[in-house]
Amino acid sequence: MHADRDLVKKYRKLLDDYRKLDAEYQRTKRALEIREIEVKSILIQAHELANIDVLTFLPNRRKIIVELQEEVIRATRYGTPLSISILDIDHFKRINDTYGHVTGDETLRTVAARLREHIRHPDVIGRYGGEEFLIVLPNSEAKAAAEQASRLCQRIRSSQIEANNHVLSVTISVGIAQFRVGRENWEGLLHRADTAMYQAKDGGRDQWVVAEG
Ligand code: GH3
Ligand code: MG
Ligand code: MG
Repeated sequence: MHADRDLVKKYRKLLDDYRKLDAEYQRTKRALEIREIEVKSILIQAHELANIDVLTFLPNRRKIIVELQEEVIRATRYGTPLSISILDIDHFKRINDTYGHVTGDETLRTVAARLREHIRHPDVIGRYGGEEFLIVLPNSEAKAAAEQASRLCQRIRSSQIEANNHVLSVTISVGIAQFRVGRENWEGLLHRADTAMYQAKDGGRDQWVVAEG
């Protein structure tokens, strides 16, 4: 009888300990799940930040080139058109030399924001270099890219930029190329757009040129 009561007591104590341990285990498990979500979200943010240009908040060179490579694969697979535009701010060095680097940076940021305002999905724009931008236009022929370039040249030319207490204006030159499916790779496409952009510079700047197909 005595032994039975002892056993029941022991059993109750064990059960009690088990419940306490289980409650603690559940709390720790929930805390771990929350921590895991936090870590994942930090990783996602880090990944996104690695793709963003810190001055303009546009996709950076690495990211916009990945976008281009993906669109080249898609265009090759589905036989859809694909065009790109390289945009370069005209005489940007003069802005730095005249007003200083801080004003130069602000000008760059404003131009980037204006360009982005006028670009619609699925087109994407990224900062390709110092004062150069790359637009990827999936499903578009060079004609559509030229219409966009014409609008962008006009909008940048006609809008004043307020930067660091200075009011100034800039123009851009644009080189456009349509992907030659099966006849070139993404680097060849970029090279032709770049050459077209230099032709736009040679032609007097503030204009766009389409590379021959
Ligand atoms: P062009 O019309 O032929 O393009 O003339 P440009 O002066 O724009 O061309 P150039 O290549 O001679 O000079 C580009 C300038 O852009 C030089 C460089 O200091 C400036 N630049 C590039 N990146 C930045 C940046 O992040 N901030 C600032 N403030 N300037 C930059
Ligand atoms: Mg340049
Ligand atoms: Mg320039």
